[in-house]
Amino acid sequence: MNLVLLGPPGAGKGTQAERISKEFQIPHISTGDMFREAIKNRTALGAQAEKYMAAGELVPDEIVIGIVAERLTQPDTAGGFLLDGFPRTVPQAQALDKFLEENGRSLTAVVNIEVDPEILVARLSGRRVCATCGAVYHVATKPSKEPGICDLCRGELIHRTDDQEATIKNRLAVYHAQTAPLVQYYRESGLLLPVNGERAIDEVYQEIVRELRNRDR
Ligand code: ADP
Ligand code: ADP
Ligand code: ZN
Repeated sequence: MNLVLLGPPGAGKGTQAERISKEFQIPHISTGDMFREAIKNRTALGAQAEKYMAAGELVPDEIVIGIVAERLTQPDTAGGFLLDGFPRTVPQAQALDKFLEENGRSLTAVVNIEVDPEILVARLSGRRVCATCGAVYHVATKPSKEPGICDLCRGELIHRTDDQEATIKNRLAVYHAQTAPLVQYYRESGLLLPVNGERAIDEVYQEIVRELRNRDR
């Protein structure tokens, strides 16, 4: 299965991607995680991406398209993949279509996780992530067993700098201007699977799996 997870910042893409990737045994490819890793390792890519991310702006299309195309040529994606946070603009979606077509592949479905903007602010401001393994928590809806410590690896839980109120506002505005048009783009191509993301994590997950199994038949 070649999947895209679409949805505004805080919709639950990363949380669901983790599970879907295990269930269907396909690699979870998060462009946000790739950029954060590059920043941590002080690579040239990290230096290019950092200022955009800190401001809640999108990293330029050429840069993002390049790293995704490279990732999708790796052999572990041959049996399927799950893109999380890419594409985020119409030119990125067009580049993805073209790249897949040239390689004799195509998307199976685009899961769109729908969540009201007011809920998104609470999700993003309460999000905590493990600095070591990237596991995602929430202070109210998905707390770790011990405050500030990752259940999985005992790493330190941090509050992403772009999850502060001012940057969150900009990221949501950027989503509406640049990413929301993709909903119509994928609806027109018949790939869109809308999912109500305002329910508990498990319920959202069950619906996604059900929809995907229906689609795959
Ligand atoms: P995204 O990758 O779309 O930005 P995340 O998966 O990081 O979203 O989730 C954003 C925050 O909301 C995290 O703190 C996560 O624990 C929490 N969260 C995710 N899904 C749900 C849900 N269905 N209900 C409540 N909280 C959720
Ligand atoms: P969220 O969990 O809020 O959806 P991500 O972790 O996916 O956020 O992305 C964090 C930041 O990384 C974005 O605000 C943006 O600056 C950059 N980024 C990630 N993916 C893309 C993309 N496909 N195009 C442009 N910028 C991106
Ligand atoms: Zn951890």
